[in-house]
Amino acid sequence: MTLHDSPDAPDSPPPHPAMMASRRALSVLVIDDQKTVRAALDKMLTKAGHNIIMAVNAEEGLRAFREQRPDVVLLDVEMAGIDGYETARRLRMAEPGGWTPIIFLSGHGSDEDLWRGIEAGGDDYLIKPVSPLVLGAKLRAMQRLVAMRQKLVTLSNDLQEANEKLQRLAEIDELTGLHNRRGLENRLHQEVAAARREQSPLTVILVDVDHFKLYNDLLGHMHGDVCLREVAKALRDSCHRPRDCAARYGGEEFALILPNTPKSGAMMFARVVQSLLAGRELVHPGSPVHRCVTVSGGITTCIPDDHTTAADMLLRADEALYTAKELGRNRFFSYEMQMDTETHRRSFGGLDRATSPPR
Ligand code: GH3
Ligand code: MG
Ligand code: MG
Ligand code: MG
Repeated sequence: MTLHDSPDAPDSPPPHPAMMASRRALSVLVIDDQKTVRAALDKMLTKAGHNIIMAVNAEEGLRAFREQRPDVVLLDVEMAGIDGYETARRLRMAEPGGWTPIIFLSGHGSDEDLWRGIEAGGDDYLIKPVSPLVLGAKLRAMQRLVAMRQKLVTLSNDLQEANEKLQRLAEIDELTGLHNRRGLENRLHQEVAAARREQSPLTVILVDVDHFKLYNDLLGHMHGDVCLREVAKALRDSCHRPRDCAARYGGEEFALILPNTPKSGAMMFARVVQSLLAGRELVHPGSPVHRCVTVSGGITTCIPDDHTTAADMLLRADEALYTAKELGRNRFFSYEMQMDTETHRRSFGGLDRATSPPR
């Protein structure tokens, strides 16, 4: 709205209620036990183009309020049974977190009456008999407050949405699109708690690209980045269950969280990861281990007790990873099985092109 057409400009004449029909119609709930007052208000409000909901006592008013959600309430103070003050309190309780303007109507206009009305949850006060001009002005003021509040609510909802989006983005690794370390730690924290509750085995695997410094040195950092994306893809592809999670732990290190996965299932999972990566045939010209890019992994599996933390599990997986490197790389070592994927392969045979291990 420009200043030019604003009815609120200081030099514009007070709006006559008859003019208000052109503005947005309000739905006005009138709660008054006097027939003559209701009739007078009905006439004024209709003329001003508003929609009216009439109630003859507090009970009827409260019901109409809950069912029809008016924009404004005009509430008689002196009513038989539940009076206006008590009704206002109940109206406020009927919309926790919400706020519908309440204007009291009273035959008395003492300072104390006004104070009691505001105390009870009212927003304004009108003395009967009500002047159409004053009523129109007060409704306009309330309408403005309602619009302002609505704007604030929308703004705060938008802000919350933006915050949630930011939060999600803050947990994603830019290069690979996997969870980053922060996302991983949050997730692992939740899964340790869930596994403890469910008393189910939780597996954590740390994966590190073998001789990756050499890869970078020979092929350049850009190729190195492409390689990391491919490794990430292989890890993501190996995750089939909805709660399986692949993350970039940092640099050329990755992590997998596998809920409900016992140590034998974890070993099979590791072999699937190796086979998926081998299938990508990423040539590593300088690797003393294999002609293609390989990874080593450290596996730890446990049913968490009251003392197990996410940090403990990552530490154990890291120790197992160190062992896998020591044993010659291109393998995953499991603490709990005291075995690596090489020994497992020799003892239990090949993988029949499995991409989803039985767990
Ligand atoms: P090891 O088998 O013992 O793990 O040897 P390594 O060479 O993989 O280990 P090292 O820790 O010596 O080197 C890791 C390398 O990973 C060094 C670093 O430049 C590289 N690296 C870390 N983050 C990135 C990245 O985002 N992009 C690229 N291209 N390289 C990265
Ligand atoms: Mg009355
Ligand atoms: Mg490393
Ligand atoms: Mg490495």
